[in-house]
Amino acid sequence: MVKKALQKLSHGEAWHSPSAKPYISIEDISKTYSGFPALHHVSLDIFKGEFFSLLGPSGCGKSTLLRILAGLETPDTGTVTVGGINITDLPPHERPVNMMFQSYALFPHMTVFDNVAFGLKQEKHGRKTIDHRVEEMLSLVKLEKYGHRKPHELSGGQRQRAALARCLIKKPKLVLLDEPLAALDKKLREHTQFELVNIQEKIGVTFITVTHDQEEAMTMSTRLGIMEDGRIRQVGTPNEIYEYPNSEYVADFIGSMNLFAGIIEEESRDETLIKTDEIKARIKANYSAGQAVGSLVSVGVRPEKIKIQKTKPKEKYNWVQGKVKDIAYLGDVSIYYIESTSAKKVVMATLPNKKRQETPPITWDEKVFLSWNPSNSIILTS
Ligand code: ADP
Repeated sequence: MVKKALQKLSHGEAWHSPSAKPYISIEDISKTYSGFPALHHVSLDIFKGEFFSLLGPSGCGKSTLLRILAGLETPDTGTVTVGGINITDLPPHERPVNMMFQSYALFPHMTVFDNVAFGLKQEKHGRKTIDHRVEEMLSLVKLEKYGHRKPHELSGGQRQRAALARCLIKKPKLVLLDEPLAALDKKLREHTQFELVNIQEKIGVTFITVTHDQEEAMTMSTRLGIMEDGRIRQVGTPNEIYEYPNSEYVADFIGSMNLFAGIIEEESRDETLIKTDEIKARIKANYSAGQAVGSLVSVGVRPEKIKIQKTKPKEKYNWVQGKVKDIAYLGDVSIYYIESTSAKKVVMATLPNKKRQETPPITWDEKVFLSWNPSNSIILTS
């Protein structure tokens, strides 16, 4: 499911540099609604030019955090700093921030041109400046020929771009996008992801987006913040989040993951052995878990990292014998659901469909062996 990230990280991955100063600092933000905590002491640093996505299930606090950044909601505790200026108490219109709403909130009776010009007209700029800037924005979002149309005369994708142009015209330092692509169908969404990232890279502005669509977030973002119950569970690049999740929650939330519960049996500086009742063989990881022998852990293994074969693997570790219970054919890949012989644990393994064939190479009820390399065992301690 992970596509190549669209972001080129041209700004040098500032978050890896200990001396780099964040552009946006969210410090210890909490928010409670009638006794219900929507955000719990959230702290987060975002760097200039990032495309940062807040990702999490419905109700985890993403929109509340976005609305606090926009100034549409007041936090109970904490501060928000943009470019070194504390904006926590500033009203929305005084912040160097603009928000694009999920509904796009275009004025239906105005043309695209007037919608885009709206912010500048309110600030009473001269006609010439307004015309020039609107033309510039319409060209950026490839709507030069659509300025005279009303929003209802546009396609979903064009409406989205008009809303983006309206949002960018006042040259905000930070753009907040609430589910920016949710109103578009799948095919258009994929195309628009590229456009959005291209526009953002071109103007170099910082984007923070809220989404519950993990594929979208993985594809577009420089980094993601994975949220659960008003807290940020992990912040990282799409690759870090996918390959090195820090908890069962994140591992399971992003993509598919096989999880095996077990205890640490042996541990050295560059190896950990885990005993589990869920498969017969021991599980081996090629790094130290940093936990005492006897600690309870989970081991995560991504389905695409698992090999399926009909003969018993030679390795002593990381293999399972089982029977094919189900096959989900997805076109480019098939997901095999294998029930382990020893503990009836269902393990997922993905096989790419490299050749065109009517019958799968491995079929229902067949006895197979699954195995994986120790470098693909992820030890999770929380
Ligand atoms: P998300 O965007 O992740 O779906 P929200 O930030 O909208 O989540 O909501 C977080 C929690 O706060 C939810 O339980 C939601 O019901 C609650 N909440 C959000 N806004 C309000 C409000 N204005 N009044 C009361 N509760 C709210």
